[in-house]
Amino acid sequence: MTVPSFVYEALPMRVVFGPGALGSLREETDRLGLRRVLVLCTPGQRALADRATALLGERAVGVFAGARMHVPVATVAAAAEAARAAEADGCVAVGGGSTVGLAKALALRRGLAVVAVPTTYAGSEMTPIWGLTENARKQTGRDRAVLPRAVLYDPDLTLGLPVPVTVTSGLNAMAHAVEALYAPDGSPVVAAMAEQGVRDLAAALPVLTDRPGDPDARAAALQGAWLCGACLGSTTMGLHHKLCHVLGGLLDLPHAETHAVMLPYVAAFNLPSAPDARAALARALDADDPAQALARLADRLGAPRTLRELGVRHEDLSRVRDDVLAAPYANPRPVDRAELDALLERAWSGT
Ligand code: NAD
Repeated sequence: MTVPSFVYEALPMRVVFGPGALGSLREETDRLGLRRVLVLCTPGQRALADRATALLGERAVGVFAGARMHVPVATVAAAAEAARAAEADGCVAVGGGSTVGLAKALALRRGLAVVAVPTTYAGSEMTPIWGLTENARKQTGRDRAVLPRAVLYDPDLTLGLPVPVTVTSGLNAMAHAVEALYAPDGSPVVAAMAEQGVRDLAAALPVLTDRPGDPDARAAALQGAWLCGACLGSTTMGLHHKLCHVLGGLLDLPHAETHAVMLPYVAAFNLPSAPDARAALARALDADDPAQALARLADRLGAPRTLRELGVRHEDLSRVRDDVLAAPYANPRPVDRAELDALLERAWSGT
């Protein structure tokens, strides 16, 4: 057995988990000393933002309901102006990765403290990674200043998450854990979180496609998403995230769907070169071949399974390959041009 050697830095987040956790919103913002709180959401989640506003009482200074996918700079400018006009000292993001992303941009730009109330499984609330999109280019970076100070995970808020989003968002979360298991900066803490996160989601997602309102499965899925998000926040991602980032940026593909499609193919490619990750996933998925188990799970969940289904044209694949090869990233298995072409071909056609 090789003696492990690693660095692990815990991220300073407070997590409040459980049905009804939203009810402690006022207490949590008070704990942080916030006096003027702006609530952020997408247009579709206004009702939830209004509930948060009611809970905050006189501490709430308004709702900005314009959060959008990929955090466009124009949206950030509008939200920053709303925060300035309201003299906000903090914000509460109620929603998925897009809303949390907007809150992070406000933390970066205006120094606002962020409280996150996640309603999908994307996991952004657990990471110091921010993103901003300008002129169709998404820029990302890491900065501890964007970390939410408190995260309220309330499974009740996910009871109505539509099944297709549940599935793709859940597989998106699992991809964080899979890549954390072979990351160059992994550690026993991350490995334990990743294995449990995959186990939770693999158990919960099939239940949720049959009974989307099952409270126990919703709680298990959200717990899994938390753990997988924490893995993303603590490690450097590899080929899978690189591919999804390029596919999303170059071809404007939907985020969670792209992750859902790519995960089984990249796992099949990488796991033979990552025996410890393979063993952890075999335990979590209770399967001898975890890559095949991920493919079977995606089938069982009715997830999109090919890039072709997402509207990718075959002639786009070479641009994706060139962009992926252009910038280095960590990966357990070296990737050459021919192998990447073959991988993309399989993910495109579903073979
Ligand atoms: P999203 O936030 O765009 O949400 C998708 C849609 O679902 C939205 O219209 C939203 O209003 C709706 N929705 C969310 N929760 C709901 C609920 N409980 N019930 C009904 N509708 C609900 O999607 P996402 O997949 O959560 O986030 C994707 C974005 O997050 C991408 O831009 C991605 O880059 C980013 N992301 C960032 C990080 C990071 O660490 N920075 C991590 C993961 C994802």
